[in-house]
Amino acid sequence: MGMATEKRDYYEVLGVPRNATPQELKKAYRRIALATHPDRNPGDKEAEARFKEAAEAYEVLSDPEKRARYDRFGHEGLRAAGAAPDFSSFESIFEAFGDIFGGGFEGIFGFGAGRRGRRRAARPGANLKVELTLDFLEAAQGCEKVITIRRGEPCDRCGGGGAAPGSSPRACGTCGGRGEITRTQGFFALRTTCPVCAGQGQVIDEPCRGCGGSGLVEAEREIQIRVPPGVEDGTRMRLAGEGEAGPHGGPRGDLYVFVSVRPHELFERHGDDIVCEVPITFAQAALGARIRVPTLEGSEEIEVPPGTQSHTVVRLAGRGIPHLRGYGRGDQLVRLVVEVPRRLSKRQEELVRELAALDDSEVSPRRRSFLEKIKAFFEGERAQ
Ligand SMILES: [Zn+2]
Ligand SMILES: [Zn+2]
Repeated sequence: MGMATEKRDYYEVLGVPRNATPQELKKAYRRIALATHPDRNPGDKEAEARFKEAAEAYEVLSDPEKRARYDRFGHEGLRAAGAAPDFSSFESIFEAFGDIFGGGFEGIFGFGAGRRGRRRAARPGANLKVELTLDFLEAAQGCEKVITIRRGEPCDRCGGGGAAPGSSPRACGTCGGRGEITRTQGFFALRTTCPVCAGQGQVIDEPCRGCGGSGLVEAEREIQIRVPPGVEDGTRMRLAGEGEAGPHGGPRGDLYVFVSVRPHELFERHGDDIVCEVPITFAQAALGARIRVPTLEGSEEIEVPPGTQSHTVVRLAGRGIPHLRGYGRGDQLVRLVVEVPRRLSKRQEELVRELAALDDSEVSPRRRSFLEKIKAFFEGERAQ
């Protein structure tokens, strides 16, 4: 194969700067190889030439010794040293670079990548998903739950192999047990999954009647789940190896548990803190009191100091939700809300009126400044 035209600069071919790193070279080559791949451009001579040109450039620039020689002496230098690559056939290109695409050249097209490694290994089973609803306290304190799921289990009758008892699977004749066949297209070899055995490498002539040859039967199973203290609404827990059994003896998939938490009528969660609102009377707020408040562990007495304002927050350190990761707990925040009675008895009303009469004569400093602001406001309005 003669090349009469002048050779292009290798960096120019790959479209990279002269100081490109090995990763940049690889990326650039991969991109060009994908775009000009003969399987995507059948019969396109220009794409073919670009594909070969890129392979040649990459072959030289990915080799530090050849790259250094090319940098100093150019194409001529390589030829003189006998280091000029010869990629006149596609076969030689695939042989040289198949591995950079991971699992064979077909890997750049997305199919078959990595298949080489698991050709004969049985496929793992599917992952399963289940929803678990917990009470607020169960989530806060942790709990044990037993759930029932339906999942594929290895068939008892055939031991999961899929062949009727007394018979056994035989190696697939079409692919020779490899699970893949090589298709040739012009001078381009392409590996694909064997259509006869669907990549299994085996053929079952006499399928087991218990499972129809799949090796799996669906069954109900009880699964015990240990829920750690502190899980939140929306948490996803993964139970490795509790999913569907793999067909023909493959490993089990995983079970994903999606946790949702019912709200509590008293507690609200804010991160690992819990907030609860506790009503107190005007008298308790004004005079001070000891009151009982609910906590995750029952109830607890707290001190309301005299003169407590409505919506004051009392912090109970370390009484919140346990940290899911790490030690310790959040806090409990008790919001004290002063309740104004909606109905007063005769006697209460008398007392409140008495109090109101006192309020007029004995104005607190804070109240006075407020009243002064109102007065100033009205005076300002009048002046306009
Ligand atoms: Zn086959
Ligand atoms: Zn079976």
